[in-house]
Parts: sequence; structure tokens; C-alpha cells
Amino acid sequence: MSGCGGILIRGGTVVNENSSVLADVYIECGLIQAVGCQLPHPKGCRVIDATGKLVLPGGIDSHTHMQFPFMGYQAVDDFYHGTKAAVAGGTTMILDFVIPNKDESLLAAYDKWRSWADPKVCCDYSFHVAVTWWSEKGAKKLLSQGITGPEGHELCRPEQVEAEATLRAITIASCINCPLYIVHVMSKSAANVIVNARREGKVVFGEPIAASLGTDGTHYWDKDWRKAAGYVMGPPLRPDPTTPGYLMDLLANGDLTLTGTDNCTFNGCQKAFGKDDFTKIPNGVNGVEDRMSIIWEKGVHSGKMDENRFVAVTSTNAAKIFNLYPKKGIIAKGSDADIVIWDPHAVRTISAKTHHQLVDFNIFEGMVCHGVPLVTISRGKVVYEDGILHVMQGSGKYIPRKPFADYVFKRIKQRDEVCLPTPVQREPYQGEVMSPSPTTTSHHCGKQSCH
Ligand SMILES: [Zn+2]
Repeated sequence: MSGCGGILIRGGTVVNENSSVLADVYIECGLIQAVGCQLPHPKGCRVIDATGKLVLPGGIDSHTHMQFPFMGYQAVDDFYHGTKAAVAGGTTMILDFVIPNKDESLLAAYDKWRSWADPKVCCDYSFHVAVTWWSEKGAKKLLSQGITGPEGHELCRPEQVEAEATLRAITIASCINCPLYIVHVMSKSAANVIVNARREGKVVFGEPIAASLGTDGTHYWDKDWRKAAGYVMGPPLRPDPTTPGYLMDLLANGDLTLTGTDNCTFNGCQKAFGKDDFTKIPNGVNGVEDRMSIIWEKGVHSGKMDENRFVAVTSTNAAKIFNLYPKKGIIAKGSDADIVIWDPHAVRTISAKTHHQLVDFNIFEGMVCHGVPLVTISRGKVVYEDGILHVMQGSGKYIPRKPFADYVFKRIKQRDEVCLPTPVQREPYQGEVMSPSPTTTSHHCGKQSCH
């Protein structure tokens, strides 16, 4: 345990999903080596004073589209600028979507996305693969690459359609006893469908995004075309201004489970292709940098959730659902040293002028957020500190994942076992047997006896 620059984080409150304790954290060689009171100070290691601050597991954004080729454009924030912005906001892992063209081999698409991401990523990452078409062989190959998880599902258009599509997906999934991860929950109606399914015992996880928690669709009527276009995404933000608060309530009480961003950014000049026809506006918004602050502000600072639930919905639950836990999503001995030192009282104002994303617009422009990441540590290295980035392109790693995460599938396995029909062991009947008379009619069904 030497030669890889140990760091001792001293005096902070270590926050996990179920506990907040005053403790030191010692990291070395990319891993958390110890968590405890008054840890010794190994010679030559760096000490970061976290007194009065929170020490959180790095955020996991379950839903991004970096440099996504879409509607004839490429998303502005690529894997470098996107992950650089992520760590500046306290997120240390992203799950991006591989989206194969029709008839393109799923594995070829996966290789293409890897070749885009590997030289550029500044934090760890993994993939979802959108199944745009199907072949048995391709699916098996993908599993061998460590791509797995419950079904993703893209939902579109008006609120009722979003709700109906959600219901249809849940119905189909439950018919084949398949758990479901539902991306970007944007509306009350879709959220309510998820709530009802969970009450019926279905294994469904809903993911609202920073945009649907932090802003709403009233901006579509803005007099400034550029501003209105900046919010265009699919499915759209809902114009009901009470939607973000409603989704946050469900996230706080456990009805919704994890958070992503659907980060997919386009500049004003690209959005302007749709200046006379909104359907031609490349759709997508920012979020990867601001997700943690938005959820702290609207969730914790507003009093809807505590810091433990914050950790669960920004990191731990995603780690469990996508089989990254306890490597990610927890501050514990042996876990990856992906850590954020968070100042719950500091305040920052979000703006496109100061953000680290490349895109020229920010849907949260002007929002004042309490809760600011002071230091972000990715795989044991300080990548962001006091407003300054220390990232290196390609330093992040692709994290393969095993299929059938316990958090998702154990309940299904248990149910399968309990429901398996088993023969009843009993003594054969020994009493009198009376044969039916050929002329009588059955009492029960009223039909003529067949004898
Ligand atoms: Zn998406």
C-alpha cells in the first residue's frame, strides 16, 4: 500500500444511505482503505480537512447521452467535456446509452461507443444498450461484455401517452416476470402508474431526471425563441409547474428510486435548425453537472429528504440496480475511492457562463443552489478542488457489470421458488366410492351425465 499517494479525509461526516457518522476516511491505490475515528496519519499522505462538511459517495448519473449522434447532429458535450462537468458537480460515474442503428450489430455499436468514450472519459462509466432491433446471438454476446440490467424504456410525447406507454411496458414486463427500469419519468401521470405498479408488488424502478425535478415546461411559451428551444427534449417537460415538486415527493418517500439526467446537449445554432418547425429542433438538455445540486436544493434544502436519502437516490440505488454495489455507491472499506466532499451550506448560482459543460445554454440558469461539491475524488485521485479541475482525458475506466443484480432479481427468484407447484403428500382415500347413475343430471352444472 505505498506509492500511489494516500489521502486522509479528516473530520467530516461520512454519509451513507442508512447512516451519518463522524469519521475519517483513508484512501490509497484507488480504494477506500479505512473508515473510522481518529485514523492514524500515514507518513507522506495528504490530509484534507473536512470538518463541518459531508463526505458522500460520488454521484452516479444513470442516464446520459454524451456526443450522441442524433437528428443529424452530434451532441455538443462529448465524453471528455461531459465527464469533466460531471466531476465538477460531484458525479463520479455515468451510465451512457449505446444506441445501435437499425440492423447494426449490437456489439459493433458497443465497440463504437467504447472507442468514443475510452480515450476521453474523466471518470468511470458503464453502458446501457438500447435494443433497437433483436437477435438472440447478439444478446448473448452483449451479456459476455458485462452489459446487463433490467429493461430500459424510452417514453415519449403527451402526458397521457407517457402514462400509457409506462403502463404497457410494466404490463408486458410483469407478464414475463421481468423487472423494469423506467427512464426519465417526466409527468405526474407516468409517476402514478409506477406508484400503482409498485403497490401491486411489481419490480419497477422509476428514474426522474434533473430536468423534471428542477424545472418545468412553462418555458416553452417564452417570448425568446432560443430560450424556449433550449428546453426542448423528448419526452417534453410538463407545463404543470407543480410537477417537479410532486416527483421530488415521490423520490423522497421511495416511490421513485434513482436519478439521471438524460444529458444530451445541443447549441443554439443546432437547435435553430427547427426555428420554423419545432419538430426539427434537436432535442436534449443539460443536467450531468447540476443534478446533485438540484436534488440537494429541491430535496434536502426544501426539507423533503435527509442527506441519507440524498445519497440513496443520487448514488447507492443506481449502484444496486446496475450491479455496481458495493464497489460503487457506498463509503466503506474496500470500495472504490469515488468520494465527494460536500458543503451543505455553501451556495452557488447556476449559469451557462460558469458551467463546465460545452453547451451554450443551461436550463437551470439563475437558480441559486445550496449544497456545493468542494472536492471530488475519482478512483482515489482529486479531480476537482475549490473550483479547479485536475482531470486527465481517458483516466476513467469502463466498468463491466454482471447480470441479475440481487437488489433487482432476488425478489423475483424468491417469488418463482414460492410459486413452484409441489405435489401434496397424502394417504390414498380408503372410504366408500359410489358410482353415478346413468339417468341422473348433475346438480352442479345442469348438464346431462355423459354415462
Ligand atoms: Zn435518454
